[in-house]
Amino acid sequence: MSSGDIIFLAGEHGARFPDGNCLFIDDEVPTVVDPATRKPDLERIERDKGVRLVINTHYHVDHTRFSSIFTGAELAAHPLDAPAIGSLEVMAHMVGIDDKPWLPIWRSVMTEQWNYTPLEVTRPVEDGDEVSLGVNTVRFMHLPGHTPGNMCLHFLEKNAVYLADIDLTPFGPWYGNRYSDIDAFLDSIERVKTIRADTWYTAHGDGVIEGDITGRLDAFAAVIADRESRILSSLSRPRTLAGIVDEAIVYGKRWDPPEMFDYFEGTMVSKHLARLECSGKALCVHGVWRLA
Ligand SMILES: [Zn+2]
Repeated sequence: MSSGDIIFLAGEHGARFPDGNCLFIDDEVPTVVDPATRKPDLERIERDKGVRLVINTHYHVDHTRFSSIFTGAELAAHPLDAPAIGSLEVMAHMVGIDDKPWLPIWRSVMTEQWNYTPLEVTRPVEDGDEVSLGVNTVRFMHLPGHTPGNMCLHFLEKNAVYLADIDLTPFGPWYGNRYSDIDAFLDSIERVKTIRADTWYTAHGDGVIEGDITGRLDAFAAVIADRESRILSSLSRPRTLAGIVDEAIVYGKRWDPPEMFDYFEGTMVSKHLARLECSGKALCVHGVWRLA
């Protein structure tokens, strides 16, 4: 007889990338969510329980990398992220690095260090879909922005929500991939505010949070506005994208390897610059950004 318990599996190394917090749902359909840390624990669950459903909230490797342990399970994800789960080349495109000279290094790190294994999504899930696991019913919420197919999960009977990378960390929202979208991310945070859950799980940061998180969601979203205002301030002197990136406004400090920092910081800064250009606050002439 399954207990129906939702078991929180804390990520190793502070649940920092490429680790993250996972869930195991001990139900008639034994289910794991975002299996990306403590491989021996996940292998033990597979041995003892025989997992039948794996849910990947999105394609990032810190949510997917041990899905391949569960060989008898269906794999659920949103159709917009499924192609990157199924192909490293597609993932490179969606990350936005398929034309980078360091692509081969990224590819070998993904496969050799981070256990990326291409898997077919056999259970595509869309916003509002509900799947019964036995005691629990999981409702899928499509909350894009971080990635196009990003999902959060509402376990209805326990009134608990797995927020994945709407992770409420002080760092704030991350939108460093080609198809990440700031406006969609903000809309997704607003939508989470309409849910009155009792328990919240995040893939990084605190992991388990009880009660009202409205203030924390507001603080998380406010990081985006803060970054944007600092980027706008930096344009008091005209400067190139590379010049702004060098200030590390999003990450706070540069990290290695420098090419990858430049790409991910640059992608996020570029999305802010596009918003500032759209709202008439900044413009770019011959590669130099300035206040409008
Ligand atoms: Zn992610």
